Amino acid sequence: MKHLKVINKYFWRYRTRLFLGIIFIVLSNYFKILSPQISGYVIDKVERLISPNNSAVNTSHHQKNYDVLVKQLINAVEGVNTSFNKNIILCAVTLLVLALLSGFFMFLMRQTIIVMSRHIEYDQKNEVFNHYQKLDTAFYKTHSTGDLMNRITEDVSRVRMYTGPALMYFINLAATIGFSLFFMLRENWRLTLYVLAPLPLLAITIYAVNTVINRKSEKIQSLLSDLTSTAQESYSGIRVIKSFVQEKAMLGFFNNNSEAYKKNAISLAKLEAVYFPSMALLIGLSTLLTIAIGGWYAVHHQYNVTAGTITEFVIYINMLTFPVSAIGWTASMIQRAAASQKRLNEFLQLEPAIKDASTATEFTLKGNIVFDNVSFTYPHTGITALQHINLNIKQGEKVLLLGRTGSGKSTLAQLLLRFYNPTEGNIFIDGKNIQHITLNNLRKQISFVPQDVFLFSDTVSNNISFSKEGKATIDSVIESAKFASVDGEIKNFSNGYETTIGERGVTLSGGQKQRISIARALHKNPEIVVFDDCLSAVDAKTETEIVNNLYQFLHNKTAIIITHRIFSSFRFDKIIVLEEGMIAETGTHETLLQKDGFYAELYKLQMQGNAVSETV
Ligand code: ATP
Ligand code: MG
Repeated sequence: MKHLKVINKYFWRYRTRLFLGIIFIVLSNYFKILSPQISGYVIDKVERLISPNNSAVNTSHHQKNYDVLVKQLINAVEGVNTSFNKNIILCAVTLLVLALLSGFFMFLMRQTIIVMSRHIEYDQKNEVFNHYQKLDTAFYKTHSTGDLMNRITEDVSRVRMYTGPALMYFINLAATIGFSLFFMLRENWRLTLYVLAPLPLLAITIYAVNTVINRKSEKIQSLLSDLTSTAQESYSGIRVIKSFVQEKAMLGFFNNNSEAYKKNAISLAKLEAVYFPSMALLIGLSTLLTIAIGGWYAVHHQYNVTAGTITEFVIYINMLTFPVSAIGWTASMIQRAAASQKRLNEFLQLEPAIKDASTATEFTLKGNIVFDNVSFTYPHTGITALQHINLNIKQGEKVLLLGRTGSGKSTLAQLLLRFYNPTEGNIFIDGKNIQHITLNNLRKQISFVPQDVFLFSDTVSNNISFSKEGKATIDSVIESAKFASVDGEIKNFSNGYETTIGERGVTLSGGQKQRISIARALHKNPEIVVFDDCLSAVDAKTETEIVNNLYQFLHNKTAIIITHRIFSSFRFDKIIVLEEGMIAETGTHETLLQKDGFYAELYKLQMQGNAVSETV
């Protein structure tokens, strides 16, 4: 329960709705609880008509502890001295009015409490989503997307079951039980105790069975999510499955999951089949006790019990059935909500490792980048990706970062954008430690094209203008696309710039995706650009074209271009070769060729490759 405490702030936010809801519940129950008394009165009246000499019945309604409102109604009805039939019709109309009033307040109760729970659900979803966005890259590397999705959907809706239905039924049951017990005990405490004896048993049974049902449904839920992920993976990997002719194996795998799901679902259905008849049995038992014991008292003229009392009690019992069975239901709902809120709290209480220091300020970047003895070890794997990196990049310089796979190039770029903090050393831009610049401000001024391209399933133009806040003009989008040498291809798409690209850009070729993501980065028009291996999927001709365009675009911007290949047509001010997380060589194209190291070797290989491809 303590986990649910955090929800109280929402109850406070929507306190008016909650308060009104409670009042409506009480009113609805008050009007509901009067009808058994009127029914009892009618039965007694009928009995008086059948046996006018039965003194117990004749006097009973004067002695009965009816509610004030009911007493006034009875007096009014008796006072009207009309025929018996008319009296009965009056009572029937009263019953109808009471039912309508009770129903009306029940409608208002749902309108306030359930609507409140939807508001809370909305606020909570936004809170979780907003918090997720603040968490750092390291968090996302250690938690699966499925888990995150589950928490924001499943867990939040379970908490809503607590703030909505469970809370409403709980107040409702408290009101119903309170009112009926009050009138039952006042009417005849002996009979009340007898007839209510089986109800606690009912509540306990329902709680126990509900717990088992919940456990089973949870199992089914997790089996279902396995089943969906298997199916989802098969669909997205369908090309791999087909090319390796593994359809049969995948079907077998799916079948196994499906089988487990079916078995559990059937066993749940069996349990539910026993559940409802046993509930009916226990309720029947209470009704039976009322009639048997009440009948005995009535026949022997004991404790002022009449047929009317029995009727009244039978209706009370039926009214109590639902609330009493709801005790077990609400209790297990609250338990589940607490477990879900605990899972949500685990994330909500997580502080992102990368966040603004209290001293962080906004700072306009020009582009002088300094890495001062920077080392970095990945927190979860303990892999040291960078060691003692010292770099000095001047404003407007174009730098090529080269190195074998796994040498730490992407890591270096990510440190510059502060996806991680260096384990050792500092990074300065224009003399200011980047840890003292606010994160948003820093990232807004650097354009980063990541190695693994990600595009949204939106239009091409929205994907390109994504990098800049506010409404972009189509001209600026086209200009960026031209710089990235993708304008011609976009124009040939079915709807040009308004073509929707499939999920993650499935409708595009690898090279098109890369160039659209370059266009997106250029559209922001920043002072510093970092391209992480973003030309790997384009042919040599397009590559030269882009590099030449970039030369024009980048004229006074600082650029770090990460690659496996040498762009000899582009004059880099500095070439840095990384090897196993350390700087192995730095220099210009000429000085590095003279050095005859990794760069020279790579250059020779590439030249040979070009020669071969030209002769083919
Ligand atoms: P490539 O050319 O293949 O892109 P890279 O030079 O960009 O390689 P990095 O991605 O910087 O290499 O990786 C450097 C080292 O850090 C590698 O040994 C890699 O296994 C490790 N590494 C990269 N990302 C992570 C991560 N998120 N968690 C743990 N270790 C990582
Ligand atoms: Mg990389």
